[in-house]
Amino acid sequence: MQLLAPLSRLRHTAALTLPLLVLLALQVPAATADDGWGSQLALATTSVSDVAPAPEIPPLPAGRTYHVGLQAGHWRTAELPAELAVLRDAAGGDFDGYREVDVSVPVAHRAAELLRQAGAIVDVLPATLPPAYKADVFVSLHADQDLHQQTWRGYKIAGSAYTAARDQTDQLVDDLDWEYAADTGLPIDARPGGITEDMLRYYGFNYRHFLHAISATTPAAIMELGFVTDAADREVIFGQQERVAAAIARGIERYLAPEAFA
Ligand SMILES: [Zn+2]
Repeated sequence: MQLLAPLSRLRHTAALTLPLLVLLALQVPAATADDGWGSQLALATTSVSDVAPAPEIPPLPAGRTYHVGLQAGHWRTAELPAELAVLRDAAGGDFDGYREVDVSVPVAHRAAELLRQAGAIVDVLPATLPPAYKADVFVSLHADQDLHQQTWRGYKIAGSAYTAARDQTDQLVDDLDWEYAADTGLPIDARPGGITEDMLRYYGFNYRHFLHAISATTPAAIMELGFVTDAADREVIFGQQERVAAAIARGIERYLAPEAFA
């Protein structure tokens, strides 16, 4: 029940800001009213041709195996196991038909393709993780929303609070941050409290409580790629997904093999 103390505090935050990840931390059932499944506005996913070139993905150095887990946030939440049943309705953000899953799913698949082309073995994972999932790196992809003011924007990245691989996780966050900022041009969302306990204690990180979580030693980060409620962010996260996917792939590569960028 170690989750309860930090999460109970978050109820107040959630009431004010509706951070999406609150949905994922097993509380605030009212927030699941933002469920985007079945939205009539699937047309909002219309892709726009990229306006900036995606960066190159260098090949990974030969002679090693690189195993990457990329989770598409909120993908197939209805299939979550009994231990996470309370999240089955947590289908992610949806603002005027701009759905979080219409960022997380295509971007995860495209980043995976790019990493495979570079030589990695990549699993694209839905909301349900394999038990005690192990990889060289795990990154969960999400998008945020600011339903009240619609003024917040930008990306943010957090490492697992539970990890037994602290140094590697911190390095992963730094590398993702470096590439995502440089390659997408999106600003960082550095508001105090912007990185919530719900990000740090994401259910997929919480191997202490859930079987369907990463292993203790898998370096792990969660990314909020931008706000679905911000027009400028949407231009990138919906309109330039090749660039977004390439930025994530490069961030992961920079962590796995910094020498590839030398
Ligand atoms: Zn999310």
